[in-house]
Amino acid sequence: TIQQLICAGARGFRINFSHGAFDDHERVLTNIRSAARETGVSVAIVGDLCGPKMRIGDVVSDGVELGPGMRVEFQKAPLLAGPPEPGGPAVFSTTYPPLVDEVRPRDRVLLDDGKVSLVCIGAEGEGEERRLVCEVVNGGTITSSKGINLPETELSTSALTEKDRACARFAVERSFDFLALSFVRSRNDVLELKAFLRELGVSAGVRRYGAAEASADPPIADPGDTMPIITKIEKPQALQEIDGIIEESDAIMVARGDLGVEMDLAEVPVIQKRLIARCHEYGRPVIVATQMLESMIEAPTPTRAEVSDVANAILDGADVVMLSGETAVGSWPVEAVRVMNRVAGHTNQFMGARPAAISTPREKEEQTAALAHGVAAMVRGLDAKLVILWTQFDGSVIYLSQNRLGRPILGCCARPDFLRRMQLLYGVEPVFMEEPANASEFLHRADDLVQKRDWAEVGDTVVFVLGDRLGQRNLSNLVYIHQVGSL
Ligand code: PEP
Repeated sequence: TIQQLICAGARGFRINFSHGAFDDHERVLTNIRSAARETGVSVAIVGDLCGPKMRIGDVVSDGVELGPGMRVEFQKAPLLAGPPEPGGPAVFSTTYPPLVDEVRPRDRVLLDDGKVSLVCIGAEGEGEERRLVCEVVNGGTITSSKGINLPETELSTSALTEKDRACARFAVERSFDFLALSFVRSRNDVLELKAFLRELGVSAGVRRYGAAEASADPPIADPGDTMPIITKIEKPQALQEIDGIIEESDAIMVARGDLGVEMDLAEVPVIQKRLIARCHEYGRPVIVATQMLESMIEAPTPTRAEVSDVANAILDGADVVMLSGETAVGSWPVEAVRVMNRVAGHTNQFMGARPAAISTPREKEEQTAALAHGVAAMVRGLDAKLVILWTQFDGSVIYLSQNRLGRPILGCCARPDFLRRMQLLYGVEPVFMEEPANASEFLHRADDLVQKRDWAEVGDTVVFVLGDRLGQRNLSNLVYIHQVGSL
């Protein structure tokens, strides 16, 4: 099935550490890598760290029915929750015992993705015997391990749990391409993951090369020893500190599942647009996730509204649209990817036909961003067929992608890990190419390649972008306007 997903258009896979054990992840990883080999496609693998996601403890198999007005208590010690005694409270344990001390009166306690809501009315008892007392506002049935969201509560827990550290180690040891971090509230949460990655011997993040940066900071010995971080935005607190979070992150995910529980659902579409626009300002790729084709978990065709949602996310400026349950547990995974790919294809065609506003990243003083602006203007002015770039997955390919050229960007590179990571960037087709000895060799090979693969015809105008030191991660500083076949 994974092979079929790739053939249908999937270019990245998320392994969500919230579900399954390391043995399961190992098996999935092996399957993805062998499917990628078989199909010859570079696919990115993202490890999703679950962060401090809280869950209800064990509950009897039939679950516990909660009705409006009922009293619910949370205790610190584990227990098997069952139906309450007549007139008594329903008592649950959780995977996060300090919740009992940290939730304040009037804070909301949301269970099962917000389907059941409680309000805290206080606490009783002291120390280990202390219990949090709540009242049910909207009822429903609670079963084992249902998620808990506390949108108003200031939690003392770090965004990086012990389990996350074990999962990050697993991902680094197996050379995953990205790590995603959940329930981030502040810049410090991202810094904590970066510090831990340094302990594991990898530099966190992609280096964005700019004029100032290049002189102050020499290139790292092996840029492959990096682990780019995708920060998931799903807490109201993260929105308060969004600039600092984006600055520290290599990419952002609009994680609409938990965001729609923690915030008023009605706000989510506007938050999505604002987050995408802010990511463009900073030159960071952005993923839109969750319930994109939700009905396809059960049905072979999507709803009209879902199809519009996918198209609108791309029109908003998303680099990546992501499926979750549809491909993880759905009955129609391949069809879901096919639908998404078709919608993306039509939407891209429309976007290519209308001039996009040139993005103005905050790092606009950077040479790389300026070069990308220049290339965007050339592509439009000359109606160039495509852009071909020699890249080490650094600033130039990211900024070119951000400029929404409306033409394919062929990112040529000899490193499989960089090729996989380029799958996160809108409009970029990663292309394997042995490292050329010099610029002239690159131009000849690229000219040949685009004709052989029918990407362009003799006489078409294309734009080449490269740096004057090809083998190193340095600033792209050369642009050639070229007529295919004229070398
Ligand atoms: C989400 O909440 O939208 C999300 C992507 O995270 P997860 O699937 O881990 O809940």
